[in-house]
This record gives sequence, structure tokens and C-alpha cells, in this order.
Amino acid sequence: MTIPFLDLGAAYAELGEELDAELVRVARGGRYLLGEELLAFEREFAHSVGARHCVGVATGLDALTLTLRACNVGAGDDVLVPSNTFIATWLAVTATGARPVPVEPDASTRNVTEAGLEAAVTPATRAVVPVHLYGRPADTSAISAWAHGRSLLVLEDAAQAHGAVVGGRPVGSFGVPAAWSFYPGKNLGALGDGGAVTTDDSELAERLRLLRNYGSRVKYVHEVSGVNSRLDELQAAVLRVKLRRLAEWNSRRQEIAELYVAKLVDTGLVLPSLPGQGEVFSWHLFVVRSPQRDALRARLRALGVETLIHYSTPPHVQPVYASGPWKSGDLPVAEELAATVLSLPIGPHLTLASAHLVAEAVKRATQELAG
Ligand SMILES: *Cc1c(COP(=O)(O)O)cnc(C)c1O
Repeated sequence: MTIPFLDLGAAYAELGEELDAELVRVARGGRYLLGEELLAFEREFAHSVGARHCVGVATGLDALTLTLRACNVGAGDDVLVPSNTFIATWLAVTATGARPVPVEPDASTRNVTEAGLEAAVTPATRAVVPVHLYGRPADTSAISAWAHGRSLLVLEDAAQAHGAVVGGRPVGSFGVPAAWSFYPGKNLGALGDGGAVTTDDSELAERLRLLRNYGSRVKYVHEVSGVNSRLDELQAAVLRVKLRRLAEWNSRRQEIAELYVAKLVDTGLVLPSLPGQGEVFSWHLFVVRSPQRDALRARLRALGVETLIHYSTPPHVQPVYASGPWKSGDLPVAEELAATVLSLPIGPHLTLASAHLVAEAVKRATQELAG
């Protein structure tokens, strides 16, 4: 028997006829873009994160890129980004013509802090994009206060943080724009690509609505050089159904995380810490660290447990940035994390019984490696 890392088919099956009925209803309705489903989802999602506006777009990458563009970030600007994030955070900056400036994270939370930002900031810095990595929220209040003093834009990369809370406030409710991804594997995932920006700023929301739709408000009148990046009606309908399950699915992830932490405490692995007062983690991923990561992964595979690595190569040493100023060794925290992190199965598909089997397999594998 193999326990998959993530089984999206099982999550779909759990929704049963409710989701099927919505898909058929929207398909028969004959309106597929910029219609009622999108408006309803935008309203519901904005409400759920505590923001005034939501603008649906085609992907999380577009949510980041278009927000930076809408805020006039571009050539000549520097943008602070975590050194240990998924490549999209960096690519969004690059797509605007601005320069990504890596910020080393705190090794235990894996998120950026004010101290890291302070060490990385440059005279040309215009914006900072904190990432709530693996669903553990970065301290948006502290980061915003730091950025505010320097007149920098803050854009939360919330692609892994649907439903996360920090300082008692949901990610997305801090009065700074947040970019969301609805890639199928995310905590709130579509049946294909999707993304959104939430914001309290009505002018920013309006600019995003222009940019996502060919720069057009009135059909065939094009005010700015926009793109085609829309969240379609079918995906919006899917997301409306799934949004109603998000809290329940996230609390199952929390239970799995608690089980893993309790069972793996004596394995010698570096474990993520559980949320503290005023915090909810979305547990997009449950990531442990081991100096013997690759051997551990191979043993787990042999024991029937599928694991993944998020992420094995940091952005600064990816081929796309080969002509950039960085070389291997320049960002030791990100490089150490990349060499040691391992993601265990977690998700709404995973029963506590299966999580228990995963934990037993991890214990056995670590014992074998030690002995
Ligand atoms: C998934 C992800 C994105 C990009 O989202 P897409 O919808 O795949 O374009 C951006 N940032 C982070 C941290 C992500 O995990």
C-alpha cells in the first residue's frame, strides 16, 4: 500500500454531488467569464479574509505580477523577496522589470523577519513581498510597520495561507494587498488554475480589474496595456463550494500536524512548531528537516509513503537567474533549508489513521538510519 502525498481525486469525491451539480448548472447557464459566479466568489472570498475587495485572476503568479504592475513597480525598482520561496514570488518581480532582492528567512519559522529585511534593503527598494511559507503566517503587522516607515509597498504572497491567522487577524486583513493562488494542490484549489488579489484599496482593485481584462472597462475601449487573466465561471463556482469546506479541511490538517508533532518528537528530525496564541496555520505543507533527507525519503518510499521536497533548489541558483549576481553559497540559510527539508503527506484526503501510518513509517525509517 502507498500513501500518496496528496490525492486530489479523494478531495473531489468527498464533495460528491454538490460540486457536480454546480458544474452542470454553470455549464448549462451559458456564461463562462466575468459573470455572476465570479462576482459571488469575489464577494465571499473577500469577506472570508476580511478585505473589502477581491479581484479574481487566472493564476497566483498573475495575482502577484498584476498587483506589482498596478502599483507601478517596474524597471529600476528593487523588491525584497524571501530567499527560500517558490519561484513564482521571484518571477512576478522579474516580469515587471524590477529586480528581486533576496531576504534570508528565520531558519525556524522559515519566514522573513524585520531583521532580515533590514539587512537586505537597498536604496532602490520599492516593495516587499513576504510569503506565508507552508501556511505558517509571517508577522504581517511587524513587516508592515517596518515597511511603512520606509514608504514601501507590502504585498502578501498568501498562495499557501488560505485560512491562516496571525495576531488574531486573518491573512489578507492587514490593510495591505494579498495575492492568492487556487492551483489545485493549494488549500483552496480549483479544478485547474486560478488566483485572486484581495485589498481594501478600491483604486487598486479597479486597476486590477482593468489589467486582467485587456485594459478594458467598456468593451473595445482599452485604457491601459492589460492582459487576459480571468478567473472563469466554472472555477469560481468550484471555489465557492470549496470555500465552505476550507475551515473544516484546515482543521483536519491541524489535527494531522498535531499527530505528527506528537509522534515524531523523539526522532531527531527538526519539526515545525505548532501555532501559538492568536495564530492559525493553514498547514499547506508539513515540512521536517533532516541532514539525511535523501536517504530518509528513499526509505519512506520503500515503506509506501510518498514525500516531496519544497523546494530543492532556491531561486537564486535556478538557471533562470544564472545571469544574476548570485552564486551558490551566497544565501546559506536558503541553501541549507533546500538541502534538508522534506514534506510529509498532509491534506483533506488524509485520514488520521493514514497519518498514523505515515508517522510510524517515519519513526521506523529514522531508527534504521540511526542504527
Ligand atoms: C503556488 C504559489 C504561487 C503561484 O501560484 P500559481 O497559481 O501556481 O501561479 C506563488 N507563490 C507561492 C508561495 C506559491 O506556493
